[in-house]
Amino acid sequence: MTSQTDPSAGSDITVPDELQNNVVITNIAKVLDPVYNWGRRNSVWPMVFGLACCAIEMICTAASRYDLARFGMEVFRATPRQSDLMIISGTVTKKMVPTIVRLYNQMPEPRYVMSMGACASGGGPFKEGYNVVDGIDKFLPVDVYVPGCPPTPQALINGLIALQEKIGQQSIATVPWYSKQGDEFTGAVPIPVLGPDLVDLRQIDIIREEAAKAETNDTAVEETAESAMPEAA
Ligand code: SF4
Repeated sequence: MTSQTDPSAGSDITVPDELQNNVVITNIAKVLDPVYNWGRRNSVWPMVFGLACCAIEMICTAASRYDLARFGMEVFRATPRQSDLMIISGTVTKKMVPTIVRLYNQMPEPRYVMSMGACASGGGPFKEGYNVVDGIDKFLPVDVYVPGCPPTPQALINGLIALQEKIGQQSIATVPWYSKQGDEFTGAVPIPVLGPDLVDLRQIDIIREEAAKAETNDTAVEETAESAMPEAA
């Protein structure tokens, strides 16, 4: 009897001599991961979803000249329920963010987000606009950023290949959607509320704290102003 050790298996496993040439000791994740990831990365279904001029380049990328079918990504789905990838292709306005986040929440795991163009990644030429969000990554977890205004179809394809590489590095043993704490993992993002301005509900405690501070300051200023006023004769 000899001992064959596989460090990734986490233990010594003894293989009889007569089976040495017939048995491979490996970790189940090492066998499953390549198959699992190969299937997923070559069949990413993006959502039919365009926000502004960048969407025209995205449409062009899916057409015959660039042919996304080569990457298994030509099946743009008209529903978030059947989509793996949300391409944020264009300017994100504050009015639009609640809808974008709601659509993201409706996508099943595993799901990915690509920020396409300067507007989606940082506000672009409209960064200072009162109605524009300066980066979708303030709300959604972005996997790949594609720079440009607009990015060319080649740039978008490069981003999609980068996403394929990222998917290829994931392990079925560690991805959160299969974790033992899976019940706690929802991946859901609180939907922001649009009022006089956009309110990110994850920041609500800070917003309340700052509002209370501002109110206290206003009261203090008013009291000072009143005490400084001369009394009427
Ligand atoms: S990045 Fe440029 S092309 Fe894309 S949506 Fe913004 S302004 Fe339009």
